[in-house]
Amino acid sequence: MTQKRASCDEEYACPVCKKPKLSRSNLRHHLLSECLEADEKTKTELPPVLPANEFASNGDLILSVAKGNSNESTNFRVDSRVLVASSPVFARMLDYDSQFSEGRMLREWYPGSDPVVLKLDDKPESLRTVFLILFLRNAEVPKEVSLQEFAEFAVVVDKYDLTVAVQLWTEIWKKDLDVKDALICAKCKYLLLISWVFSYDEFFEESTRTIILDFVLKPGLQFEFVDRMDGGKVHNLPDETSQCILERLREKMKESFHQIHAPFEREEETRIEGIGTKCFHFRYPSPYMSLEIAKAAQVCDYMQLGSLHEAMKKRNTRWMQLREEVDGGVLPVSLGNLCAEVLYLKDPVYDVVLPGCNENHNLCSWLRNVHPIIQDLQKVVCLQLSEFPSKAKNDAAQGTVEPSETGNEVG
Ligand SMILES: [Zn+2]
Ligand SMILES: [Zn+2]
Repeated sequence: MTQKRASCDEEYACPVCKKPKLSRSNLRHHLLSECLEADEKTKTELPPVLPANEFASNGDLILSVAKGNSNESTNFRVDSRVLVASSPVFARMLDYDSQFSEGRMLREWYPGSDPVVLKLDDKPESLRTVFLILFLRNAEVPKEVSLQEFAEFAVVVDKYDLTVAVQLWTEIWKKDLDVKDALICAKCKYLLLISWVFSYDEFFEESTRTIILDFVLKPGLQFEFVDRMDGGKVHNLPDETSQCILERLREKMKESFHQIHAPFEREEETRIEGIGTKCFHFRYPSPYMSLEIAKAAQVCDYMQLGSLHEAMKKRNTRWMQLREEVDGGVLPVSLGNLCAEVLYLKDPVYDVVLPGCNENHNLCSWLRNVHPIIQDLQKVVCLQLSEFPSKAKNDAAQGTVEPSETGNEVG
């Protein structure tokens, strides 16, 4: 009851000339008579809209984006109802019953009066592309966009929840994406933003794999890639990257770091436990294996253990230091480099001939077990959209489910 009374007494400021303290009925009167006299004065104060940015010439709303710190701004005149229909976020701001003052001002707006002005801080080029799409100026929508433009567009689309409204165009741009180019470390940050906003599973996996393998983690949780091919230019991940992605990337990098060392320790353990049985020429039961071979197998295993221990000894001091840093959230060397170091390891006892044995023991090398694990790790290390609750697909929301997706769910 008290609330109702309060709203009857509510005071309005005139949306056109800003005259305060008008009751609802006074406002009507004011708008229809005296305010119009002020029209000339207020009109000149409206942000100027270039003809190319008039998306609705009699629209009720001007969106104004300041250019840097200057007084200049890029302004778009639009019809607020189109934005409300396309974007849940604009709807929350501009609906007639919105909590925001803009909603109330738009409710009071009438044809011929000055539009409401709303200030935004988005990239004007990306906003303009959004409006070209929403206001169906299809001939002017770019048929292809650069990776960076696509990513900046994705940021705006994400902010205003416009994914569905712009979907037909993003599908077209996606087809022309040069993925090979996009996966260059300096650029994969763009592909990450794009694939996240538009839920492109494969691109998300590929861009996160590139980041996990080729970026380092600096103190302060900063991701960094130093481009040696480009004069040591430093690249970070953009601020717009979702925090939950960054967190998962850090976790995954930490986890994968330990996976690089794990096969060494596993080899050491199984070989010590199975001396005489790990050699490729070992046969069981013993009648299948001559006494000479049995002896050779034992010597072979001791030799491999020696080779393995030498390699581990060489690595271990550095590895312990790295492990300490990784536990502190810093990864000073990229995982890709750490993997490469392991893959470059050569077996020092390769082609060694054992006394009294004609067999070749190259197949017994411990590196033959370690290398494939590292190669696989490089292939599969990535994040998947399905790990994120907000991106996990659910049939009801998706409408139709493609066969491949159904297959994945079953498998
Ligand atoms: Zn007025
Ligand atoms: Zn052997």
